Amino acid sequence: MPTVLRVVLGDQLDPHHSWFSRVESDVLYAFFEVHSEQTARQHVQRAALFFAAMRAFAAELREAGHVVHYQRITDADAAQDLIEAIRRVVLEFEIRRVELQPADAYAIDRAFRSLESHLGIPVSICPDEHFLATRELGTELFGDSRHWLMERFYRQMRTTHKVLLTAEGKPEGGRWNYDADNRDTAAKAPRSFPEPLNFGNDYTEVLADIHAAKLPVFGSEAVARFHPITRPQALRALEHFMVHALPHFGQTQDVMLTGQPTQHHSLLSFALNVKLLNPREVIAAAEQAYREGKAPLNAVEGFIRQILGWREYMRCVYWAKMPDYATTNFFAASRPLPAYYWTGDTSMSCVREAVTDSLEHAYAHHIQRLMVTGNFATLIGVAPAEINAWYLGIYADALEWVQLPNTHGMSQWADGGLVATKPYVSGGAYLKKMSNYCRGCHYDPEVRYGPRACPFNSLYWSFLAQHEGALARNPRMAQMYATWRKMSPEVQQALLAQAQQYLDRVDEL
Ligand code: FAD
Ligand code: SF4
Repeated sequence: MPTVLRVVLGDQLDPHHSWFSRVESDVLYAFFEVHSEQTARQHVQRAALFFAAMRAFAAELREAGHVVHYQRITDADAAQDLIEAIRRVVLEFEIRRVELQPADAYAIDRAFRSLESHLGIPVSICPDEHFLATRELGTELFGDSRHWLMERFYRQMRTTHKVLLTAEGKPEGGRWNYDADNRDTAAKAPRSFPEPLNFGNDYTEVLADIHAAKLPVFGSEAVARFHPITRPQALRALEHFMVHALPHFGQTQDVMLTGQPTQHHSLLSFALNVKLLNPREVIAAAEQAYREGKAPLNAVEGFIRQILGWREYMRCVYWAKMPDYATTNFFAASRPLPAYYWTGDTSMSCVREAVTDSLEHAYAHHIQRLMVTGNFATLIGVAPAEINAWYLGIYADALEWVQLPNTHGMSQWADGGLVATKPYVSGGAYLKKMSNYCRGCHYDPEVRYGPRACPFNSLYWSFLAQHEGALARNPRMAQMYATWRKMSPEVQQALLAQAQQYLDRVDEL
């Protein structure tokens, strides 16, 4: 009979974790599908992917000879709170010791830390085996600084982990960052993109369970076929990206095209976040593609920066700044999220496309998240908690440790500039340049006021005017404020009046 309980959370599906290196008959591995771990309102595909991946992983462990306890969301009389579910298994199997992996979510981490006193038996948390940076690295590098420059963090990570360096320890190619080569506009985008893999997974059973359990879900039930849910599928996805998309990654990375959310993106975020893939192997595969001449440096560096840089950096921000970070609201924004974020039913083609892609695939690429839905929410002053709940629910890859710093830091500037050197806001001109959305739009990106005026234009200037006291001295905003000040008072008034009109009926745009 097992005497040791090891709890495997839904984002701890790493088959190479040292726990699983040998079969131990006294160890019981437990998986819990519980209501307490579901976000308040989530995309049905997000829930389906997590449950399907957990079930597949548990089945593989069983097949390998491990002892497994699996609680489904529909199990009768099952505890629906994670900690209570653990307590019941401890009692039922007369467990004498509990072992845990570090939880990536702040609330679970805290609950795990007090689990020993709750259960009255020894509880230990093993070291993390997934991330490259410690949780403390951000604080060690930046201390109390008000601005945590990702680029500095990234260079440190490149140096420490010897990634894309020459034999002399210098950055490969002579530069640390090739972003300047990765700024192609929509006009330069290719006409076709690699077809994402179709894993053909069957979600009928998990979808039925999600409905039977009455989980509050939304979005299309046709689960996007490109999300891997097992280790072999994740490896195929990685290989597919390396061969077909990595060589072009970067150059048109910021481009947004109607009906083309995936483009040359890797689609690996779900597999990485549930730990089916280890970031080290993804980074190594990209570096190898460069060294073998299969992908250019601008693409490889740009891709590696996302994982070795942004992904690790966001996690450090999260652990350094929680729990206060979750309630940051620099602009004191308070507007509810417009209803079309949940339906896509808006005349603004860019918002419609970004939301529709998200509802269809539980996926949107980074610039759709940042420069469309995030940009618009910042401009109209949506309360961070509202837009935060949306981002946490709608994407398959959404986990608080990475979603929250992206939302409060990069997208909404709710942290007042810890993560981003300036708010990511723009008028219609940027969206016209970087997307083909404006072609199908009711509004005109060239027009600033009047019935067809693109809402992003006047809202952009009114946002700047409203937050002049906080932003005007930011050197990265200086040029925009200089432009604003050069406008005649009449033009300024017309822009502000137009913006107010739009804000007054923001739900009808
Ligand atoms: P690619 O474009 O192929 O990038 C490769 C990998 O780099 C991604 O898989 C991801 O692991 C990593 N990465 C890229 N950008 C970031 C970033 N800014 N922060 C952290 N990692 C990054 N990413 C999540 O994994 N989960 C989230 O919940 C999440 N929420 C976001 C919310 C907002 C408001 C914004 C602006 C971004 C968010 N991101 C999130 C980051 C990014 O948009 C996604 O990681 C990316 O779109 C996933 O698609 P991909 O795998 O095709 O990425
Ligand atoms: Fe978006 Fe404005 Fe372009 Fe319409 S015109 S797609 S609202 S940027």
